[in-house]
Amino acid sequence: MIVGEVNIKTYLSKSKLPGVDYSINPYVGCPHKCIYCYAEYMKKFTAHPEPWGEFLDVRRCPVPLRPYMLFHTYVMLSSVTDAYNPYEKQFRITRKLMEQLVFCQAHVQVLTKSPLIVRDIDLFKQLPSFEGAFSFSSSKDSFRQLAEPGAATVEEKINALKTLKENGLSTAVVIAPIFPQITDWKEIIRLTRPYTDRYHFDALNIRPAYQKRVMQFIARHFAHLLDLYNSIYEQEDISYWRKLQEEINAFCRQENIQGKADFRHVFSSKRTPKN
Ligand code: SF4
Repeated sequence: MIVGEVNIKTYLSKSKLPGVDYSINPYVGCPHKCIYCYAEYMKKFTAHPEPWGEFLDVRRCPVPLRPYMLFHTYVMLSSVTDAYNPYEKQFRITRKLMEQLVFCQAHVQVLTKSPLIVRDIDLFKQLPSFEGAFSFSSSKDSFRQLAEPGAATVEEKINALKTLKENGLSTAVVIAPIFPQITDWKEIIRLTRPYTDRYHFDALNIRPAYQKRVMQFIARHFAHLLDLYNSIYEQEDISYWRKLQEEINAFCRQENIQGKADFRHVFSSKRTPKN
């Protein structure tokens, strides 16, 4: 991993996500190396010749976050990196930002795949509101090793979720991306439910930039599913997602789970329903 530093003028990016005012990304790059990484486009804003997943830039900003801008705003870490990636242990950029967010009294949500998040529980407790969210694409660590080789194990993530909950903090599980016929979403819910306040679900939405890589991954490791993936991603048949959305939502209603699958972004793309 090539680790560098870049100077920036501000950490704040206006967010288009619902209910989020700003997103903060303390790093550029991500060592988790998810094969489906949606943030890979960030490479074009760097001078790195290395492939995405092989470099990490620590973002340094001399200007502190301003309370008059951030007081009671909603801030998310992080949209295009993992703020608690293993290098954060050494650089402590996220911790310094979290101290400033406490000073600003912002509402904070953190999305991570790393147990390092528990280090900052003392700060989360001083915020007006906080939610720690972990994403899972499978309950099986064998799949995590293949698809997210740099991320923490399933067990480590569940233990961290439990620690946040035991400390009285709000938690969420993001079941995403859902790999058709691979992501065992009911098992993820079963394992995490005691420590989770709410769930989000998101479909594996393969962008053209990495479609070939993901399809090669399926061909290599899940060859028996290749026809299904071809029908979804090559022939653009969205019926799989329609059925799955209904199934997840019925399950959540029945089990009184706070969560709703909403795959509208798949339906509303230019794809034509095949049935
Ligand atoms: S954790 Fe997020 S940013 Fe990091 S590699 Fe995975 S998808 Fe990309």
